[in-house]
Amino acid sequence: MKISRRNFLRLSVLAICSGPLAAKLGCSIEDMNNEVPASPAVGSIEREISKYLEKNEELAPTFEMYKGIFVVHQGYLDQIQVSVPFSEEEIRDFFREGRYLLSQQQLKFDPAVFKEVMVSITRVIQEKSPENLNNLEKLFEAREFSYDNVQDFLNLFTIYDKPQMEQHIREIGMEERTGLNSELITFVTFSASSIFYNAYMEETAKITDFSLWRRGYCPVCGQTATIAKHRKEDGARILECRLCHAQWYYPRVECPYCENRDFNKLRFFFVEDDRSRQVHVCEVCRSYLKVIDGRAMGKEVNLELEDIATEFLDVLAEREGYQLPDRNLRLLN
Ligand SMILES: [Zn+2]
Ligand SMILES: [Zn+2]
Repeated sequence: MKISRRNFLRLSVLAICSGPLAAKLGCSIEDMNNEVPASPAVGSIEREISKYLEKNEELAPTFEMYKGIFVVHQGYLDQIQVSVPFSEEEIRDFFREGRYLLSQQQLKFDPAVFKEVMVSITRVIQEKSPENLNNLEKLFEAREFSYDNVQDFLNLFTIYDKPQMEQHIREIGMEERTGLNSELITFVTFSASSIFYNAYMEETAKITDFSLWRRGYCPVCGQTATIAKHRKEDGARILECRLCHAQWYYPRVECPYCENRDFNKLRFFFVEDDRSRQVHVCEVCRSYLKVIDGRAMGKEVNLELEDIATEFLDVLAEREGYQLPDRNLRLLN
């Protein structure tokens, strides 16, 4: 199965029973069958999605997948225990020096909770996809997901981003061992671990905000940002991390990837009449950033949904000769 690198949510697969998978992972069937009650957040996402589908029905399978994973995240977020052992002053010192938080501390994953999340997400993928993915459970036989190894494997996301994880997975032979391709393995792992990173980010945000941070990568987990918005109230450009969902300000007239400030070498384009969905490009490093203009839309935007709905902009940017940002950004700073 091929998953687009640009839009990791664009999975297509077929529902199968995940009972054997649950047993293999040691989760009880009772746990598995617990329905997550619809929260106000889920209702809000559903309403947003229906608006997108009015304009583009073809996105329905992708949004269904997104919604299923979102529900899993909502259901588990309160159960995830994380601790941030730094004072506000320590964190602000890290931020001033361009050090993201998880380069200073290893995020601890509870292996049992992680397995439950992973099983739930695997079920969503299997249920929402038109292809038969019953071999997805092979994933759990990989030694990387064993109780003793899973911590180290998940922490690789603070070193690699998704495309680099795919490469790493190929290099360590996981594709051969599981019979699954590296994009699918990365997608499932990224989706399941994202909730832990998100919980850590929210814990950090209780201690301090991210106002001191001025980088193209995330202040919390180090992932390079690839999408941003113009904030509705003041038009400020806000980057968002896909893994932990931290948001931070970055000046409009500066490339977040190479820090070029020559406005003659920074420009943006959009498609025909939709000025609210833009591609910001830098002629120095030839990178692009998708930016959704909440001011033009007159509302706060959900960047995850926008990312799915604007895949055409990725295609366009690449056709124009621009690439996703340098993934070794953190090493350059
Ligand atoms: Zn992050
Ligand atoms: Zn640049």
